[in-house]
Amino acid sequence: MTTLRNYLFSVMGIVVFFISLTTSYAQENNTPETDMLDVVTSVAPITNIVQNIGGEKINLIGLVPEGVNSHTFELVPSDAIKINKADLIIIDGLNLEADVEKTANNAIDKNPKIQLLKLGDNTIPEDQWIFDFSFPKEKGDPNPHLWLNVEYAMKFANLTRDKLIEMDPSNSEYYTENSKKYNNLLKQLDDGIKKSVMTIPAENRKLLTYHDSWAYFVPRYGMKVIGAIQPSDFGEPSAKDIANLIDQVRAEKVPAIFASEVFPTDIVDQIAKEGNITIVETLSDDDLPGNPGDNKYSYVGMMLENMKNMIIPLGGNIDALKTINPRNVSTA
Ligand SMILES: [Zn+2]
Repeated sequence: MTTLRNYLFSVMGIVVFFISLTTSYAQENNTPETDMLDVVTSVAPITNIVQNIGGEKINLIGLVPEGVNSHTFELVPSDAIKINKADLIIIDGLNLEADVEKTANNAIDKNPKIQLLKLGDNTIPEDQWIFDFSFPKEKGDPNPHLWLNVEYAMKFANLTRDKLIEMDPSNSEYYTENSKKYNNLLKQLDDGIKKSVMTIPAENRKLLTYHDSWAYFVPRYGMKVIGAIQPSDFGEPSAKDIANLIDQVRAEKVPAIFASEVFPTDIVDQIAKEGNITIVETLSDDDLPGNPGDNKYSYVGMMLENMKNMIIPLGGNIDALKTINPRNVSTA
Protein backbone atom coordinates (compact mmCIF):
# COMPACT_ATOMS: atom_id res chain seq x y z
CA MET A 1 0.00 0.00 0.00
CA THR A 2 2.72 2.37 1.01
CA THR A 3 4.49 1.83 -2.30
CA LEU A 4 1.31 2.44 -4.31
CA ARG A 5 0.54 5.59 -2.31
CA ASN A 6 4.09 6.86 -2.78
CA TYR A 7 3.84 6.06 -6.47
CA LEU A 8 0.55 8.03 -6.80
CA PHE A 9 2.02 10.96 -4.90
CA SER A 10 5.02 11.11 -7.15
CA VAL A 11 2.83 10.93 -10.29
CA MET A 12 0.68 13.77 -8.92
CA GLY A 13 3.82 15.68 -8.13
CA ILE A 14 5.02 15.40 -11.70
CA VAL A 15 1.60 16.49 -13.02
CA VAL A 16 1.54 19.53 -10.69
CA PHE A 17 5.09 20.35 -11.74
CA PHE A 18 4.11 20.35 -15.44
CA ILE A 19 0.97 22.42 -14.83
CA SER A 20 2.99 25.08 -13.00
CA LEU A 21 5.62 25.04 -15.76
CA THR A 22 2.97 25.67 -18.43
CA THR A 23 1.36 28.46 -16.40
CA SER A 24 4.61 30.27 -15.76
CA TYR A 25 5.52 29.92 -19.44
CA ALA A 26 2.24 31.54 -20.47
CA GLN A 27 2.73 34.38 -17.96
CA GLU A 28 6.29 35.00 -18.98
CA ASN A 29 5.44 34.90 -22.64
CA ASN A 30 2.57 37.33 -22.03
CA THR A 31 0.84 36.15 -25.18
CA PRO A 32 -0.93 32.83 -24.76
CA GLU A 33 -3.08 31.73 -27.73
CA THR A 34 -6.23 33.30 -26.31
CA ASP A 35 -4.75 36.76 -25.69
CA MET A 36 -3.85 38.67 -28.85
CA LEU A 37 -1.25 41.43 -28.85
CA ASP A 38 -2.78 44.87 -28.31
CA VAL A 39 -1.04 47.20 -30.75
CA VAL A 40 -1.56 50.97 -30.80
CA THR A 41 -0.37 53.05 -33.78
CA SER A 42 -0.45 56.73 -34.73
CA VAL A 43 -1.12 57.96 -38.30
CA ALA A 44 -3.32 56.05 -40.76
CA PRO A 45 -0.60 54.94 -43.25
CA ILE A 46 1.40 53.38 -40.41
CA THR A 47 -1.75 51.79 -38.98
CA ASN A 48 -2.41 50.26 -42.39
CA ILE A 49 1.17 48.98 -42.85
CA VAL A 50 0.93 47.30 -39.42
CA GLN A 51 -2.48 45.88 -40.35
CA ASN A 52 -1.04 44.28 -43.48
CA ILE A 53 1.50 42.36 -41.36
CA GLY A 54 -0.47 41.72 -38.14
CA GLY A 55 -3.86 41.08 -39.79
CA GLU A 56 -6.26 39.02 -37.72
CA LYS A 57 -3.64 38.03 -35.13
CA ILE A 58 -3.42 41.43 -33.41
CA ASN A 59 -5.87 43.93 -31.86
CA LEU A 60 -4.98 47.13 -33.67
CA ILE A 61 -5.96 50.67 -32.67
CA GLY A 62 -4.93 53.73 -34.74
CA LEU A 63 -4.96 56.92 -32.66
CA VAL A 64 -4.96 59.81 -35.16
CA PRO A 65 -8.52 60.22 -36.51
CA GLU A 66 -9.20 60.76 -40.22
CA GLY A 67 -8.85 64.35 -41.37
CA VAL A 68 -6.87 65.43 -38.31
CA ASN A 69 -3.49 67.10 -38.83
CA SER A 70 -0.98 64.60 -37.46
CA HIS A 71 1.57 67.34 -36.71
CA THR A 72 -0.66 69.18 -34.24
CA PHE A 73 -2.64 66.14 -33.05
CA GLU A 74 -3.09 65.93 -29.27
CA LEU A 75 -4.13 62.93 -27.23
CA VAL A 76 -7.48 62.81 -25.41
CA PRO A 77 -7.74 60.95 -22.06
CA SER A 78 -9.21 57.82 -23.70
CA ASP A 79 -6.11 57.61 -25.94
CA ALA A 80 -3.88 57.54 -22.87
CA ILE A 81 -5.92 54.61 -21.54
CA LYS A 82 -5.42 52.75 -24.84
CA ILE A 83 -1.66 53.37 -24.64
CA ASN A 84 -1.53 52.15 -21.03
CA LYS A 85 -3.33 48.94 -21.98
CA ALA A 86 -1.20 48.24 -25.06
CA ASP A 87 1.49 45.57 -25.43
CA LEU A 88 3.13 47.46 -28.27
CA ILE A 89 3.01 51.06 -29.49
CA ILE A 90 4.21 51.70 -33.05
CA ILE A 91 4.90 55.26 -34.26
CA ASP A 92 6.87 57.01 -36.99
CA GLY A 93 9.12 58.88 -34.57
CA LEU A 94 11.47 61.68 -35.68
CA ASN A 95 9.47 63.76 -33.17
CA LEU A 96 6.23 63.58 -35.22
CA GLU A 97 4.08 62.10 -32.45
CA ALA A 98 5.68 63.83 -29.44
CA ASP A 99 2.53 63.50 -27.34
CA VAL A 100 2.07 59.79 -28.06
CA GLU A 101 5.75 59.12 -27.41
CA LYS A 102 5.69 60.91 -24.04
CA THR A 103 2.57 59.05 -22.92
CA ALA A 104 4.06 55.75 -24.12
CA ASN A 105 7.26 56.35 -22.16
CA ASN A 106 5.24 57.13 -19.01
CA ALA A 107 3.30 53.90 -19.52
CA ILE A 108 6.57 51.97 -19.96
CA ASP A 109 7.92 53.47 -16.70
CA LYS A 110 4.94 51.92 -14.91
CA ASN A 111 4.93 48.68 -16.90
CA PRO A 112 8.27 47.78 -18.52
CA LYS A 113 6.59 44.97 -20.51
CA ILE A 114 5.07 47.57 -22.85
CA GLN A 115 7.24 48.19 -25.92
CA LEU A 116 7.60 51.25 -28.14
CA LEU A 117 8.73 50.81 -31.76
CA LYS A 118 9.81 53.97 -33.61
CA LEU A 119 9.81 52.93 -37.26
CA GLY A 120 11.39 56.07 -38.72
CA ASP A 121 14.22 56.22 -36.20
CA ASN A 122 15.05 52.59 -37.04
CA THR A 123 14.83 53.18 -40.80
CA ILE A 124 17.37 55.96 -41.33
CA PRO A 125 20.25 57.21 -39.16
CA GLU A 126 20.22 60.81 -37.94
CA ASP A 127 22.65 61.96 -40.64
CA GLN A 128 19.97 61.17 -43.25
CA TRP A 129 17.29 63.28 -41.57
CA ILE A 130 16.07 66.06 -43.84
CA PHE A 131 15.57 69.59 -42.54
CA ASP A 132 13.91 72.22 -44.73
CA PHE A 133 11.70 75.32 -44.79
CA SER A 134 8.81 73.76 -42.81
CA PHE A 135 11.12 71.66 -40.62
CA PRO A 136 14.18 73.86 -40.02
CA LYS A 137 17.26 72.50 -38.29
CA GLU A 138 17.24 75.13 -35.56
CA LYS A 139 13.91 73.78 -34.30
CA GLY A 140 15.39 70.29 -34.06
CA ASP A 141 12.41 68.40 -35.54
CA PRO A 142 13.31 66.81 -38.89
CA ASN A 143 10.86 66.29 -41.73
CA PRO A 144 9.07 63.13 -40.54
CA HIS A 145 7.35 61.95 -43.75
CA LEU A 146 9.45 58.85 -44.38
CA TRP A 147 6.56 56.61 -45.44
CA LEU A 148 6.00 58.51 -48.72
CA ASN A 149 9.23 56.86 -49.92
CA VAL A 150 8.11 53.29 -50.65
CA GLU A 151 11.55 51.87 -49.90
CA TYR A 152 11.18 53.20 -46.36
CA ALA A 153 7.62 51.86 -46.14
CA MET A 154 9.08 48.40 -46.90
CA LYS A 155 11.49 48.89 -44.03
CA PHE A 156 8.55 49.91 -41.79
CA ALA A 157 6.77 46.67 -42.73
CA ASN A 158 9.86 44.55 -42.05
CA LEU A 159 10.51 46.19 -38.69
CA THR A 160 6.86 45.54 -37.77
CA ARG A 161 7.17 41.88 -38.82
CA ASP A 162 10.31 41.38 -36.73
CA LYS A 163 8.78 43.00 -33.64
CA LEU A 164 5.52 41.02 -33.90
CA ILE A 165 7.50 37.77 -34.27
CA GLU A 166 9.64 38.69 -31.25
CA MET A 167 6.62 39.45 -29.06
CA ASP A 168 4.29 36.76 -30.44
CA PRO A 169 6.43 33.88 -31.76
CA SER A 170 3.47 31.48 -31.93
CA ASN A 171 2.19 33.39 -34.98
CA SER A 172 5.55 33.91 -36.67
CA GLU A 173 4.56 31.91 -39.75
CA TYR A 174 1.48 34.08 -40.29
CA TYR A 175 3.46 37.34 -39.95
CA THR A 176 6.20 36.05 -42.25
CA GLU A 177 3.69 35.01 -44.92
CA ASN A 178 1.92 38.41 -44.84
CA SER A 179 5.27 40.16 -44.95
CA LYS A 180 6.29 38.27 -48.11
CA LYS A 181 3.04 39.18 -49.88
CA TYR A 182 3.22 42.80 -48.72
CA ASN A 183 6.85 43.25 -49.75
CA ASN A 184 5.87 41.98 -53.17
CA LEU A 185 3.08 44.55 -53.43
CA LEU A 186 5.29 47.41 -52.23
CA LYS A 187 7.98 46.40 -54.72
CA GLN A 188 5.41 46.65 -57.54
CA LEU A 189 4.37 50.07 -56.22
CA ASP A 190 7.96 51.29 -55.97
CA ASP A 191 8.80 50.13 -59.52
CA GLY A 192 5.54 51.56 -60.89
CA ILE A 193 6.19 54.98 -59.33
CA LYS A 194 9.75 55.05 -60.75
CA LYS A 195 8.46 54.29 -64.25
CA SER A 196 5.56 56.75 -63.98
CA VAL A 197 7.72 59.65 -62.81
CA MET A 198 9.97 59.06 -65.82
CA THR A 199 7.00 59.84 -68.10
CA ILE A 200 6.88 63.43 -66.71
CA PRO A 201 8.87 65.82 -68.96
CA ALA A 202 12.22 66.29 -67.17
CA GLU A 203 11.72 70.05 -66.71
CA ASN A 204 8.42 69.40 -64.89
CA ARG A 205 9.71 66.93 -62.29
CA LYS A 206 9.37 69.55 -59.56
CA LEU A 207 7.06 69.91 -56.59
CA LEU A 208 5.81 73.01 -54.89
CA THR A 209 3.42 72.04 -52.12
CA TYR A 210 1.56 73.64 -49.27
CA HIS A 211 2.53 70.98 -46.73
CA ASP A 212 6.09 69.72 -47.00
CA SER A 213 5.47 65.95 -47.22
CA TRP A 214 7.61 64.85 -50.13
CA ALA A 215 11.17 65.42 -48.93
CA TYR A 216 12.04 61.68 -48.82
CA PHE A 217 9.98 60.81 -51.89
CA VAL A 218 11.75 63.10 -54.37
CA PRO A 219 15.32 61.76 -54.12
CA ARG A 220 14.14 58.18 -54.62
CA TYR A 221 12.06 58.92 -57.70
CA GLY A 222 14.14 61.58 -59.41
CA MET A 223 12.11 64.67 -58.60
CA LYS A 224 12.88 67.89 -56.75
CA VAL A 225 11.03 69.89 -54.09
CA ILE A 226 11.30 73.53 -55.15
CA GLY A 227 9.42 74.87 -52.16
CA ALA A 228 6.84 74.46 -49.45
CA ILE A 229 4.48 77.16 -48.34
CA GLN A 230 3.77 76.15 -44.77
CA PRO A 231 5.99 77.79 -42.13
CA SER A 232 7.53 75.73 -39.34
CA ASP A 233 4.98 76.90 -36.74
CA PHE A 234 2.17 75.57 -38.98
CA GLY A 235 0.74 79.08 -39.11
CA GLU A 236 0.17 81.25 -42.19
CA PRO A 237 3.11 82.22 -44.39
CA SER A 238 4.08 85.91 -44.44
CA ALA A 239 3.35 88.23 -47.38
CA LYS A 240 7.08 88.20 -48.19
CA ASP A 241 7.18 84.38 -48.23
CA ILE A 242 4.22 84.36 -50.60
CA ALA A 243 5.79 86.95 -52.91
CA ASN A 244 9.00 84.90 -53.03
CA LEU A 245 7.09 81.75 -53.91
CA ILE A 246 5.22 83.51 -56.72
CA ASP A 247 8.57 84.65 -58.14
CA GLN A 248 9.88 81.10 -57.86
CA VAL A 249 6.81 79.58 -59.55
CA ARG A 250 7.24 82.00 -62.49
CA ALA A 251 10.98 81.33 -62.74
CA GLU A 252 10.70 77.53 -62.53
CA LYS A 253 7.70 77.40 -64.92
CA VAL A 254 6.04 74.48 -63.13
CA PRO A 255 2.63 73.52 -64.56
CA ALA A 256 0.98 72.72 -61.20
CA ILE A 257 1.31 73.26 -57.47
CA PHE A 258 -0.14 71.09 -54.75
CA ALA A 259 -2.23 71.69 -51.65
CA SER A 260 -4.04 69.14 -49.52
CA GLU A 261 -7.40 68.77 -47.86
CA VAL A 262 -6.33 69.34 -44.27
CA PHE A 263 -4.57 72.65 -44.90
CA PRO A 264 -5.90 76.11 -45.83
CA THR A 265 -5.86 76.72 -49.56
CA ASP A 266 -6.59 80.45 -50.04
CA ILE A 267 -2.85 81.19 -50.09
CA VAL A 268 -2.20 78.40 -52.58
CA ASP A 269 -5.05 79.83 -54.68
CA GLN A 270 -3.35 83.21 -54.67
CA ILE A 271 0.01 81.75 -55.73
CA ALA A 272 -1.63 79.66 -58.46
CA LYS A 273 -3.55 82.65 -59.80
CA GLU A 274 -0.61 85.05 -59.79
CA GLY A 275 1.78 82.40 -61.12
CA ASN A 276 -0.87 81.39 -63.69
CA ILE A 277 -0.69 77.66 -62.97
CA THR A 278 -3.00 74.77 -62.05
CA ILE A 279 -3.66 74.03 -58.42
CA VAL A 280 -4.19 70.45 -57.26
CA GLU A 281 -5.79 70.13 -53.84
CA THR A 282 -5.88 66.38 -53.41
CA LEU A 283 -2.41 65.22 -52.34
CA SER A 284 -2.46 63.35 -49.04
CA ASP A 285 0.30 62.31 -46.68
CA ASP A 286 -1.76 60.62 -43.99
CA ASP A 287 -5.43 60.44 -45.03
CA LEU A 288 -6.38 57.15 -46.68
CA PRO A 289 -8.76 57.40 -49.66
CA GLY A 290 -12.33 56.07 -49.47
CA ASN A 291 -13.79 54.45 -46.38
CA PRO A 292 -12.71 51.58 -44.11
CA GLY A 293 -13.47 48.35 -45.94
CA ASP A 294 -12.87 49.80 -49.44
CA ASN A 295 -10.05 48.15 -51.42
CA LYS A 296 -8.30 51.48 -51.83
CA TYR A 297 -8.53 52.38 -48.14
CA SER A 298 -4.85 51.50 -47.61
CA TYR A 299 -1.35 52.94 -47.71
CA VAL A 300 -0.91 51.56 -51.25
CA GLY A 301 -4.28 53.06 -52.23
CA MET A 302 -3.20 56.45 -50.87
CA MET A 303 0.04 56.34 -52.87
CA LEU A 304 -1.79 55.35 -56.07
CA GLU A 305 -4.22 58.29 -55.62
CA ASN A 306 -1.28 60.60 -54.93
CA MET A 307 0.56 59.48 -58.05
CA LYS A 308 -2.54 60.02 -60.19
CA ASN A 309 -3.01 63.51 -58.72
CA MET A 310 0.67 64.45 -58.95
CA ILE A 311 2.01 62.85 -62.14
CA ILE A 312 -0.84 63.60 -64.57
CA PRO A 313 -0.99 67.40 -63.89
CA LEU A 314 2.79 67.54 -64.34
CA GLY A 315 2.39 66.02 -67.83
CA GLY A 316 3.12 62.33 -67.21
CA ASN A 317 1.01 59.16 -67.13
CA ILE A 318 0.44 56.38 -64.60
CA ASP A 319 0.11 53.39 -66.96
CA ALA A 320 2.82 51.54 -65.01
CA LEU A 321 0.63 51.65 -61.90
CA LYS A 322 -2.65 50.52 -63.46
CA THR A 323 -2.42 46.82 -62.56
CA ILE A 324 -1.63 47.32 -58.88
CA ASN A 325 -4.32 46.16 -56.48
CA PRO A 326 -4.24 48.32 -53.33
CA ARG A 327 -6.23 45.82 -51.24
CA ASN A 328 -4.69 44.69 -47.93
CA VAL A 329 -2.73 41.44 -48.24
CA SER A 330 -3.77 40.26 -44.75
CA THR A 331 -7.18 38.73 -44.16
CA ALA A 332 -8.23 41.26 -41.52
ZN1 LIG B 1 2.38 65.68 -42.76
